[in-house]
Amino acid sequence: MRAVLVESHEIAPEVRHFVFETPDVERLQFKPGQFVSFQETLGGKKITRPYSIASLPDGNRFELCLNLVHEGIFSPHLFRMQPGDSVEMSAPLGFFVVRNPSKDALFIATGTGIAPFRAMAPDYLHHPEAKELTLLFGVRYERSFYYRDEFEALARRHANFRFWPTLSRPEPSWTARAGHVQTHLMEALGDRRDLDVYICGLKAMVDDVRGILKALGFDRKQIIFEKYD
Ligand SMILES: Cc1cc2nc3c(=O)[nH]c(=O)nc-3n(C[C@H](O)[C@H](O)[C@H](O)COP(=O)(O)OP(=O)(O)OC[C@H]3O[C@@H](n4cnc5c(N)ncnc54)[C@H](O)[C@@H]3O)c2cc1C
Repeated sequence: MRAVLVESHEIAPEVRHFVFETPDVERLQFKPGQFVSFQETLGGKKITRPYSIASLPDGNRFELCLNLVHEGIFSPHLFRMQPGDSVEMSAPLGFFVVRNPSKDALFIATGTGIAPFRAMAPDYLHHPEAKELTLLFGVRYERSFYYRDEFEALARRHANFRFWPTLSRPEPSWTARAGHVQTHLMEALGDRRDLDVYICGLKAMVDDVRGILKALGFDRKQIIFEKYD
């Protein structure tokens, strides 16, 4: 099916939020956290790239959050798209979804790894049996805290939701958490070893966090992850 770009706008340097529509509402059915695969012939080659859906199910609309990979192929193509342009896409896929909303959970994202959590956090919290949820979100600079207002509003509405942003390159004016997400992992877990941990971002961070969790005795089933590279 084709996805038509409705609009896109910059939400941080070299990061854009995209709104797409597709005529096939039935085939767009998805669970928060799943991704779509885009396909296009670029430079004479058929190229496929997956992108996490960064929105809750909403009729024939879905949203993405993408960073520009300068030396890449598909992300520069998507950044050049204009409203009305279209791209071939698959039906939503993937198993990176909330497994058990009645268990406490920790979501960990860096950069555009926040995309699936923009859908999964409200999905988790809206569940009648939802327990405690912490979202640890790491970016480099304060100006790159996309969706910050939304997550802060969600935390105001849900007493069982903690939103913990952390900056790896903070300005002197920043007085909250600083450093990589790994730095705050132990504080987020406390002495708990029974919660589910969901991790999304680039391989280096995901593997590092998984290694720490395994060393702490977490079972493989408690560690749910999506690697972007
Ligand atoms: C399940 C899944 C979901 C994904 N969801 C998203 C998403 O929501 N938003 C998003 O921006 N990307 C996402 N990605 C990554 C995306 O599919 C592409 O890999 C990315 O857009 C780069 O593609 P490219 O053709 O521009 O560059 P390529 O030519 O494929 O890659 C160039 C280099 O960039 C690295 N790279 C890949 N992704 C990134 C990234 N996000 N940031 C920095 N370097 C990267 C690759 O390792 C490679 O070395 C997802 C990947 C997977 C597997």
